[in-house]
Amino acid sequence: MTSAETTTSDGTMTAEGRRTALEVIAAEVRACTRCRLAQTRTNAVPGEGHPDTEVVFVGEGPGQTEDQQGRPFVGRAGDLLVRLLGTLGWRRQEVFITNIVKCRPPGNRDPEPDEIAACAPYLQRQLAVLDPAVVVTLGRFSMGHFRPGERISQIHGTAAPAPAETGARDALVYALYHPAAALRSSDVERQSYDDMAGLPRVLVDARARRAAARGDANAASAAQAAALPTQPDSPADTASAATFF
Ligand code: URA
Ligand code: SF4
Repeated sequence: MTSAETTTSDGTMTAEGRRTALEVIAAEVRACTRCRLAQTRTNAVPGEGHPDTEVVFVGEGPGQTEDQQGRPFVGRAGDLLVRLLGTLGWRRQEVFITNIVKCRPPGNRDPEPDEIAACAPYLQRQLAVLDPAVVVTLGRFSMGHFRPGERISQIHGTAAPAPAETGARDALVYALYHPAAALRSSDVERQSYDDMAGLPRVLVDARARRAAARGDANAASAAQAAALPTQPDSPADTASAATFF
């Protein structure tokens, strides 16, 4: 494919260009041996979702079901994530879902710092391609990557700008508890529903910040003025969302 077909006149990638670029990254991940997790995985789990989405969810690492299927969040934690998304009227195929490490740590142990570092370039490239407005971190390892030095009990349900070196060049990072933690504690579960309910507002704020940063003053004030009378449209549906506001 030529670059003319994968980028638009302003230099941003087309949906087809993004789809192709994400598939290139996924193929590298599936063959990757950059860290010790390659030796014990069944399948690497690159991540999946809509190439045009505005919202990317980043978990910790694949569990047993994900390792078997090669897909993210398809076990019990994934079922809860889908229920949480459903409270917004969003479906998993409208967002992008991936993890800090793409291969299962044996016995679901915590990922090691050197494994996180070895895997980070894949996430960085995925985010560079997707250019999301919002990165939602699930759990403390993901939070620690995007908002280092914070405590999840303090910052869950809050947003902060993403460091550009994460690959997300103009995004807000919204911190959620990990759905597996919500499965273990009804307090965390309740809090997770509350935090998820705040995500549409963060998406509206993120759109306004991006529009302002990218010099589109009209879009910025329109996005800011939107008091969110109803939920924004699906996060993958940028065109109709623009119409909506
Ligand atoms: N937990 C994670 O952090 N990621 C998955 O993909 C599944 C469970
Ligand atoms: Fe490669 Fe990441 Fe898997 Fe390690 S966890 S082998 S760096 S894809």
